[in-house]
Amino acid sequence: MKTAIYPGSFDPITLGHIDVLKDGASMFDKVIIAVSNNPAKTGFLSVEERKELIKQSVRDIPNVEVDSFDGLTVEYAKQKGAKILLRGLRAVSDFEYEMQLSQNNRALCDDIKTVFLITKPEYNFISSSAVKEIFLNNGDISKFVPKEINKYLVENKR
Ligand code: ADP
Repeated sequence: MKTAIYPGSFDPITLGHIDVLKDGASMFDKVIIAVSNNPAKTGFLSVEERKELIKQSVRDIPNVEVDSFDGLTVEYAKQKGAKILLRGLRAVSDFEYEMQLSQNNRALCDDIKTVFLITKPEYNFISSSAVKEIFLNNGDISKFVPKEINKYLVENKR
């Protein structure tokens, strides 16, 4: 049974994240999408809100579980018996950061490898930070996020 962890902030989850998640779910027996509770990053949505909204957005993918974690990703992966971390790549600009992160994780635990998936071109420019910026300036984010997220934000955060 191959379990992959897809860790990230997902603040909020976007269609780019979902694209990577779907591809990951087609390759592994189970993917746990895990919201990192990073005290260094002040969240737009709380970790609980993010988890709940992700659950609603991934209901149609049977082998996906939604969770959150504190602390090191590799420790969380060990707890879950997962040896694969899934991450998405957009432009070259993601590469350096992701390479460092992956090599740090590898140095911490040689058993756990990172798999990178490249999103479809139409999702390449989507980021959670751009979504937040557009939303907070009253723009329409419905093309960038799952419909459940758009509905929740419009109803609760405006
Ligand atoms: P983090 O704060 O850990 O970088 P994010 O939620 O920003 O968390 O991103 C989680 C993962 O998803 C990262 O690997 C990031 O590169 C990837 N990602 C973010 N947006 C997209 C997108 N539009 N397409 C593909 N991958 C993406």
